[in-house]
Amino acid sequence: MNYFKSDYFTYINNQLHCENVNLTKLAEDFGTPLFVYSKKFLVDRYKELDEAFSSINHKIYFASKANFNLSVIKTFYELGSGVDVNSAGEFYRAIKAGVNPKDMLLTGVGKTDEEIRLGLEKGVFVIKAESIEEVYVINDIAQELNITAHVAIRVNPDVDAKTHPYVSTGLAENKFGIDSIYAYDMFLECSKLSNIELVGIDMHIGSQITTVQPFVEAVIKMAELYKKIQYAGIPLKHFDIGGGIGVLYNDETPFTPKELADKLIPIFMQLDAEIMFEPGRFLTANGGVLLTDVLYTKTNSLGKNFVVVNSAMTELLRPSLYQSYHHVQPIEKIDNIDFQADIVGPVCETGDYIAKEREITMVGRGDKLAIMSAGAYGMAMSSNYNGRRRPAEILVDGSEFKVIRSRETFGHLIFDEDTHI
Ligand SMILES: *Cc1c(COP(=O)(O)O)cnc(C)c1O
Repeated sequence: MNYFKSDYFTYINNQLHCENVNLTKLAEDFGTPLFVYSKKFLVDRYKELDEAFSSINHKIYFASKANFNLSVIKTFYELGSGVDVNSAGEFYRAIKAGVNPKDMLLTGVGKTDEEIRLGLEKGVFVIKAESIEEVYVINDIAQELNITAHVAIRVNPDVDAKTHPYVSTGLAENKFGIDSIYAYDMFLECSKLSNIELVGIDMHIGSQITTVQPFVEAVIKMAELYKKIQYAGIPLKHFDIGGGIGVLYNDETPFTPKELADKLIPIFMQLDAEIMFEPGRFLTANGGVLLTDVLYTKTNSLGKNFVVVNSAMTELLRPSLYQSYHHVQPIEKIDNIDFQADIVGPVCETGDYIAKEREITMVGRGDKLAIMSAGAYGMAMSSNYNGRRRPAEILVDGSEFKVIRSRETFGHLIFDEDTHI
C-alpha cells in the first residue's frame, strides 16, 4: 500500500488528519462523500509562488475554475491574489466572494455577448480575446457603452506541453488562442479599433505540466513577439503566462516555483511588463481530499476484485475523463494484507471509476477511504447525474474547521423544475 506524501494530510496515531483535524470524525459527523480542504496548504502554495517571483513586477490571478468555492476564492483574494474567471457564472461567484471586478481577468474561448458586456460594464481588469472576430465584437460592445475596452490577446505559441492531450492547449492544432503566425498582424489590425486598448499578451499552454522546458520555450517565443509589438508602437503592459503548473498525483517530479523562476526571470527582466500568472491546480489540487465510504466488495469469476464506494465520477470526474491517477488510502491505517482492486462508484457507467487495478490494503464494507489530490477540478466538475446530490465541503484551519458548502438536498435536484403535463 502506497500512501500519499503530504505535510497537510498526515497520520496521527494511524488516523488521517487534515492539519490537526481528524478526518474519521469529520466523515462520521458530516457523512460522505465529503470534500475537505487545508487552508494552510492554499496559503503556503500561494506564498511559495508569489515569493519565487518577488524580484519582478508580477501578480497572481487564481484560476477559479479549478475550485470555485467562495471561501477558497476569498482565501486567495485576502492574500492579494486576483481571480481569473471563465464565464458569467464564475464572475458571479467571484463577486459573491467579495472580489472587485478590477481584480478579475475574463477568459474563455467562446465568450457570449452577454459575458463581454458584463465584463465591460463591471470593469474587469482585462478581457482576454481569443480570435479577431471576438475583438471586433468587444469593440462594438465597448462602442455602444461608450468606453474603452482593455484587451489582451491570447496567442497560441505552438509548443508541446507534454501533458495529457485533453489538457494540452498550446499546440497549433488546439482550439485556444490565435495562431502565433498571425499574432503580430492581428495586434496591428486590432490597434486601429476605436474602442480597444491592447494591453497585453496572454498564453496558456496546458495543464499539469511537470517540466519547465515548455514554459521556457513558449515564454521565449512570446517575449520576442511582445517586444516586436511594443516596437511597433503598441504600448503593451502585461505579459500573462497562464496557468498549467503541474503537481504530484502519483510519481511525477514536478518542478518548484523557484525552479520556474530561475529559468523565466532572466527572460522577464528584458521585458517592460507586469508578469501575470493564472494557476489553478497548483494552488489547490493537493490541498483537498474526497472522503468516501466502502459500500461493498466483490470478486468476479476472473478473479478481479471490485471495491464499490459511495463516491463516483459525479464527485471526481478526472479518472473517467483523463484516466487520471489519484491515490486512494484508508483513513484509518489498517494492519492488513494488500490486494489489487478496481475502486468504482455507484454511477451507471462502465467509465465510472476512481482507480483501476490498484494495490490497496484489503478493505471492506464500512471502511472509510480518502481519495487524495482532490482539491482541483473535483467539486468544480461535479454533476447531478444519476440524481446524485453534490457533497459538502469543509475548510480546515489548524484545529478548526468550517462547512463552506453544505450537502445538497433533494430540493436542489428539482428546484427549477415543475410538472406541467
Ligand atoms: C484552466 C486554465 C487555467 C488554470 O490551469 P491550471 O492547470 O489549473 O493551472 C489558467 N488559465 C486559463 C486560460 C485556463 O483555461
